[in-house]
Amino acid sequence: MQKNRTVMHYQHEHLENSPEFVGLSVNQGTANAPVINPYLKRTGKKSLLSVAQYVDGIFRGDISVLGQAVTLIESSLSIHQEIAQSILEKCLPHAGNSIRLGITGVPGAGKSTFIEALGMYLVRQKSKKLAVLAIDPSSERTKGSILGDKTRMEELSAVQNAFIRPSPSAGSLGGVAQKTRETIVICEAAGFDTIIIETVGVGQSETAVHSMVDFFLLIQLAGTGDELQGIKRGIMEMADGIVINKADGGNIEKSRVAQSLFKNALHLFPQAESQWTAEVLLASAKDKTGIEQTWDMVERYIDFVHTNGYFMHKRNEQAKYWMYETIDRQIKNKFYNNQQIKDLLKQTENQVLAQKISSFAGAQKLLDKYFENI
Ligand code: GDP
Repeated sequence: MQKNRTVMHYQHEHLENSPEFVGLSVNQGTANAPVINPYLKRTGKKSLLSVAQYVDGIFRGDISVLGQAVTLIESSLSIHQEIAQSILEKCLPHAGNSIRLGITGVPGAGKSTFIEALGMYLVRQKSKKLAVLAIDPSSERTKGSILGDKTRMEELSAVQNAFIRPSPSAGSLGGVAQKTRETIVICEAAGFDTIIIETVGVGQSETAVHSMVDFFLLIQLAGTGDELQGIKRGIMEMADGIVINKADGGNIEKSRVAQSLFKNALHLFPQAESQWTAEVLLASAKDKTGIEQTWDMVERYIDFVHTNGYFMHKRNEQAKYWMYETIDRQIKNKFYNNQQIKDLLKQTENQVLAQKISSFAGAQKLLDKYFENI
């Protein structure tokens, strides 16, 4: 009885302290320390600045603030997006004064080696401020983001006037591309006069890059005579210039053959809207040959399109494209994230599959449902 009472007595405290459990005792503990240091938020590096502080840092060309602002652009948190949009608004009037160069080519073509060589030339010989951005919507899946590997562009990353940023990894191609497009704006506001956008040449990302650059450069390799195979005609058509990379050592002769093949192929395309005839150059990113010529080609192109008015025409077309692209994407996102639509979607899909209603009637039903509520 007594024993029971003792147990009862301890029931609401520590059962282990009951005389039954000889040799065990639990002391009165101390309160848990707070997991989060309350001062961290105010003093920590990651804390948010005010919009004015970000903008001021960007205008001063402060790379650390610029990097933090890019992180906000890339974030999907609505609080971050709100700040990012305010920063962008303030930066827009100070953007636009750069040469935007898109570089594409299949993995292994030597893009990052080439960008490093070109970048070092631009920063050292031409006193440029260079930002290197990337679009690789696959980077989240592969975890092997292009530019994400720290060993790439090692020399360039250590240079003061170069800002290198890997591809935003979250989301659809449209979402990733929009973040890069916005990053261009704040890089320009930070005084970067040359922006390189790298893409992996394996998907749709070339079109997205083409829609945000002034000059589109395709990096190719000399091969076994079938160089033109495997390159989508559309990508060749988009190119303002082609560089046959790795034209070094025993590869020089083959590269010359590839050069004339590409030149001939380009002749078959209709004249570009810019009136510019794409050039085909040889280069070796490893030996740093053809780098100066590549930049000379870009500068000649920019002069050419400034003179004939195409430069501004293209920039305006791109601005329009991004407006409509953003509207399309946001409407689509809102539609698919709408709870009523989510509930109805599978059911409608099944009706279509069971041939109870047509695809069009199914789509119409869902669209009507969505639009009747807004
Ligand atoms: P990316 O996947 O297109 O970015 O290609 P990388 O720049 O990573 O280069 C792929 C491989 O080609 C690496 O092993 C480079 O060292 C090599 N490479 C790049 N450029 C040249 C070049 O001009 N000549 C030679 N011989 N090799 C090169």
